[in-house]
Amino acid sequence: MHRRLIVPGAIAASLLLAIPASAADFTPGASGIGDPYYPASGNGGYDVAHYDLRLKYQPGTDLLEGTATINARTTQNLSRFNLDFGLTVSEVRVNGKKAKFARTGDQELEITPAAGLPKGADVTVVVRYAGKPSELKVNGYTAWHRTPDGGVAAQEPEAAVWWFPSNDHPLDKATYDVSVSVPDGTQAISNGVLRSQSSKLGWTRFNWRSNKPQASYLTTLAVGKFDITTDKTEGGLPVINAYSKDLGDNAGAARASIERTAEVAEWLETVFGEYPFNALGGYVPNVKSSYALETQTRPFYSPAAFNNGSNTSIVVHELAHQWYGDSVSVHGWKDIWVNEGFARYSQWLWSEKEGEGTAQELADHVYAQRPADDPFWTVKPGDPGPDDQFHTAVYDRGALALQALRNEIGDEAFFAILKGWPKAHAYGNAKVGDFVKYAEKTSGKPLAGLFDTWLYQPTRPEAPAAKAAGLTRSSAAHTAEPKSWKKIAATNTVHDHGHEHEHGRKH
Ligand SMILES: [Zn+2]
Repeated sequence: MHRRLIVPGAIAASLLLAIPASAADFTPGASGIGDPYYPASGNGGYDVAHYDLRLKYQPGTDLLEGTATINARTTQNLSRFNLDFGLTVSEVRVNGKKAKFARTGDQELEITPAAGLPKGADVTVVVRYAGKPSELKVNGYTAWHRTPDGGVAAQEPEAAVWWFPSNDHPLDKATYDVSVSVPDGTQAISNGVLRSQSSKLGWTRFNWRSNKPQASYLTTLAVGKFDITTDKTEGGLPVINAYSKDLGDNAGAARASIERTAEVAEWLETVFGEYPFNALGGYVPNVKSSYALETQTRPFYSPAAFNNGSNTSIVVHELAHQWYGDSVSVHGWKDIWVNEGFARYSQWLWSEKEGEGTAQELADHVYAQRPADDPFWTVKPGDPGPDDQFHTAVYDRGALALQALRNEIGDEAFFAILKGWPKAHAYGNAKVGDFVKYAEKTSGKPLAGLFDTWLYQPTRPEAPAAKAAGLTRSSAAHTAEPKSWKKIAATNTVHDHGHEHEHGRKH
């Protein structure tokens, strides 16, 4: 859902009738949206407005059957176009007519409609499919979590390919209706508001709705046996949390953390401004992974995140992403700092509020712990490269950059920026460079040098930059460990998405 000029349908249609394009003017849409980190991600030639997913899932066999109806608008004269998808497709219709389709590469579904689609036309694509997501391997890897009682889709930068066809890149966000039928006694959790739930002949259908633009990787599905808690915030937002019934010894700590979601969101509103969505929550399925993910309105948490007890800091991190990452999304994956630098910094601010170490003390400790020859400093948070997209440096050095900014422009301008940015780019996409410009405009100071030092140089910033950032100690022996340090460090696994280490890069 890019922002665009809305042309009334009738006028657009009459223009198209008046100037018929010849077949030669219709060309295939690109097989990628143009992200150099992940060339196969997303597609060209159209823009999705809405996904309607009607699914049936069998926890016993992992069989997922679905019909995806996609409302899109063409951005060029299209002879054919791609969706990103891996399960087995039985039928594709475009505007009601059967379309030819073929699989190309690992994750491309190439669709040739009966006739070319003119630029600027509203198009409805229906894809019928079935398959077992756990058996679908893309470069030897599945993002789908199989659990003893079901399955879960929650992964970054790609998860959709394993369960629904999409234009799989944050640049094309859309609204969603996700309707899932599962055997009675089992639940289906997704994003947004639960509109309804009904049971018939042994199957229960859950109807979820996300009414604000949502990136495909932030769209989640969890089927399993959950204990569900529901509540409303003081402001009236519905809160739905879900906990696998099999969390064992982690059950208490998971609840003690995630039941504080409304409290954390309320505090984040004082830092980032009004919460951008109409629902809140979190869920903990019985998965073996250790990471968490900011799936929109309802973050995913691995049980292992609570191995050492409750951790509110991880809830702070994932909820901070609702502003920084979900409402304002990356333009390309190289812009990951706009997500992770701020989510990590929000943990420092929470620590500051809780009296467990100020952001400055945490910055000082990070800096002191990392000697100049630590490879940590070779990672450029402003453009880390696909292999280091979720490197600790994107988080910790990324947060150091914000502490340097805070010292440079003062608290008043700094917090005005933290609040103003999510509003300025709400429900859209933004680049690191956009943030630099926004910070310069808001503070009235030239900041290109500061951001170059902290985000783009492959070396440790030394004096005078480090001194200006309040970083005075050069070895860990000289700083006391802030009280929040271990809790925050424990959330370093939030970006340990597993497959980078176990299965090699996907792209
Ligand atoms: Zn994060």
